[in-house]
This record gives sequence, C-alpha cells and structure tokens, in this order.
Amino acid sequence: MEDVKKMTRANLEILSMVTVLKFRSPVKTDHYKSESCNVFCLDCRWCNEHYEEFYRQEGYHNPDRNYFAGGAKKLASPQNEGERESTLADILDLLKLHDCRRVNLGVHVNCGKYGKRFETPDEEIYFFQQELLKARQALLDYLRGKNCEAQIHMYLLDWEGMHEVKGPAL
Ligand SMILES: [Zn+2]
Repeated sequence: MEDVKKMTRANLEILSMVTVLKFRSPVKTDHYKSESCNVFCLDCRWCNEHYEEFYRQEGYHNPDRNYFAGGAKKLASPQNEGERESTLADILDLLKLHDCRRVNLGVHVNCGKYGKRFETPDEEIYFFQQELLKARQALLDYLRGKNCEAQIHMYLLDWEGMHEVKGPAL
C-alpha cells in the first residue's frame, strides 16, 4: 500500500514550494453561508477601507468579495458579451454555493476602468446611476431565467460616501 501511495505522488510531479506565510487553520470543509455577494470595483481607494466599513455596518460576517476593475461595469458595459456571461455565471454559482439571497452592485466616481470625463458632478452621478440600472436589469433577467431569487441592491461611491441608489421598482 505504501508503495502505491509513493508511486502516485511521484506520478503527479508535485513541484517544490516555499512557505511564505505560516499559519495553522482549522480544516473547515463545509461552505459558509454568505449574507451578500458584492460586485464592486477593485480600486484600493475604496476597497482598502470603505467596503469593509460597509460590511461591518451591515453586519455581514461572510461577504463574498467580487472585486473587478469597474465593478458592476462587467454587467452593464462589458468589453464583450462573454465577459458579461461569465460574470453572471460566477454570481449565480456563488449564490448557490453560499446559500445567498442578496447581490450588491457597485460603481464609483472617477473610475479608471471607465476612463470617462464629465462636465459636471451631476453628469457623472447620472451616468453611473444609469450603469447600475443596466447592471441590475442584466442580472435580474439572468437570475429569473435560472429560477434564482435574490434581492439586488445598487451602490454608488463618491467623495462623500457610499450611497444606495433607489431605482424604479422592477
Ligand atoms: Zn473603478
């Protein structure tokens, strides 16, 4: 038996590894339940502190953190249809895996992924609100098609804070 084990390991050609961080973590094989699936921009100006503050305030113990360049842009204005489809599929997988019933979609002013310039602050806010509405619609249509029930909330971050956008009821 021992020989078989050794042989299998040898056949897998395990590469050598250097431990860069040492810890002892309890083995948890059950998946956790998540209170929310958060699709936000990975920009450190917001994610280093403000998203975490938001999670604490909302009482999320296991917020799934889906940080992409542009955040909800992946659903509203993806670079191609494949990007939107794969993001939607990822969100659905997370909702199912973590028994989650809520998706928070986020965008922020001065987003480098959009790289847009605006004449006035209101014009910028209007643009990002419209992006959130587009993202919400794409997600809603997709989830309905998959018979998945989830609340969708929209958030816009500017220099004054993080604001929940109240769109028209769907
Ligand atoms: Zn951004």
